[in-house]
Amino acid sequence: MDIERSVILWLIRNRDEDPLTYLEHIIGQQSWKDRAACKDAPTAIFFPRRGESTPPAKAYCQRCEVRSDSLSFALSGDAHNDTGVWGGTSARERRKATEAGASQLADAV
Ligand code: SF4
Repeated sequence: MDIERSVILWLIRNRDEDPLTYLEHIIGQQSWKDRAACKDAPTAIFFPRRGESTPPAKAYCQRCEVRSDSLSFALSGDAHNDTGVWGGTSARERRKATEAGASQLADAV
């Protein structure tokens, strides 16, 4: 069910309740990926080939509200996250920062 329909139904059923509280609840239930700035971006720019640049992808990350979720996901250890731009970092930056310690990661983002 989409958010608009869900909110309208809730408002009909709960006329005395605060709709903002419900909206916050609904938004909180959404996956962080649904709120990603790159949701509709071309996937290829987030997985540049050797020698291709990462700034086009990082431009999306700069204005992304779920950047920390994305970075945490990339650092979660799943093998498929070892490539690509996640949370405003390239795979190489994440590897270097992980080797150097967590404090370096904040500088990379
Ligand atoms: S931080 Fe970048 S890669 Fe991660 S979800 Fe946001 S835009 Fe996409």
